[in-house]
Amino acid sequence: MININSDTNPSQINDRNDQNNQNEILSTISKLKQKLKDVVVILGHHYQQDDIIQFADVVGDSLILSQTAAKLDKPYIVFCGVHFMAETADILCNSRLSNSRQQQKVILPDLSAGCSMADMANINDVETAWNILTEVQQRTKNVNKIIPITYINCAADLKAFVGKHGGYICTSSNAEKVISHALKFAEQLLFFPDQHLGRNTCYRMGIPLEQMPLYRPTLPSGGLSSEEIANAKVILWDGYCSVHQVFLIEQIVAIRATTPDIKIIVHPECSFDVVQAADLVGSTAYISQVIADAPPGSKFAVGTEINLVNRLAKRFPQKEIHSLSHPYPCLCSTMYRIQPKALLAALRSIENKKPINVISVNAEIREAALLALQRMLEIS
Ligand code: SF4
Repeated sequence: MININSDTNPSQINDRNDQNNQNEILSTISKLKQKLKDVVVILGHHYQQDDIIQFADVVGDSLILSQTAAKLDKPYIVFCGVHFMAETADILCNSRLSNSRQQQKVILPDLSAGCSMADMANINDVETAWNILTEVQQRTKNVNKIIPITYINCAADLKAFVGKHGGYICTSSNAEKVISHALKFAEQLLFFPDQHLGRNTCYRMGIPLEQMPLYRPTLPSGGLSSEEIANAKVILWDGYCSVHQVFLIEQIVAIRATTPDIKIIVHPECSFDVVQAADLVGSTAYISQVIADAPPGSKFAVGTEINLVNRLAKRFPQKEIHSLSHPYPCLCSTMYRIQPKALLAALRSIENKKPINVISVNAEIREAALLALQRMLEIS
């Protein structure tokens, strides 16, 4: 019972009640996790909040998590990430071509946990773009072969599209390897959905910006003339991660003015200007490794999601680590939808043998998508 006196304000009582409820939820998750340990693996993406990460058996980027889940071969995979990640796990764990010994059910604790970047490309628009590009190709004879490449952050049907058209999936860790491999077989690439990963990677590989026009799916012919399409090396889709657009060149200038010996390290989903101005650029795995390897006293301003930055700061107290957008946190709000109560509901549903929020990709899409994933894994 809460003892109310004249100094206690009602909002403090609510806060205390919320905290008590949260503690109860966390303690129940802990007990259930222990009870279900032989049948459940909990995966936590780097961008998840600490209240979720504390229960994760594996923490990492989306591909590492899916690959680990397939190897662990537990019947239930609770994927604390976003929708496309749970789909990727289902593709890797349950395809005919995979080595999984049993069907694994992939559960996304909150079905509204999507990815705004993934939503910027859909199969109808990509097929329209493909028809336009191949028609120009045939008419102008400038390009003999075009290959589609998708960032892993996309829906399963787009991964399948790429699989069917001889293309590849890439991650932010292997984009350069995948793109250079594809360019051995094609004169032109269609890269979706993240324009920034495509542009930043291709520019680093020596492809000039003029040869990377932006295809805007809302405009007729993507807003490009036949000449622009015919002369392009890489056609970039007009998609982006709204979270990583929070980082600005002005923040880099300001932080360097006050702390000249700081290193700016950013994710390649950031804009071209930010990536050009940064000292170091790479995936979440790369960022974590660079910071882990740096000597005590090193200083970093990090351009990626705040939960990962905060965890790195806690893990390495002898180094100075903060967000590039400090004091404004850069939070992936869709990842944040995976709340402890949603994780608890997912575990309870497994305990009751009535699993909720199971993500299951259609078999035909799954097989075609797996082809593209396997091509990527062979290269990287
Ligand atoms: S950080 Fe960006 S790309 Fe990653 S899940 Fe969130 S919205 Fe999607």
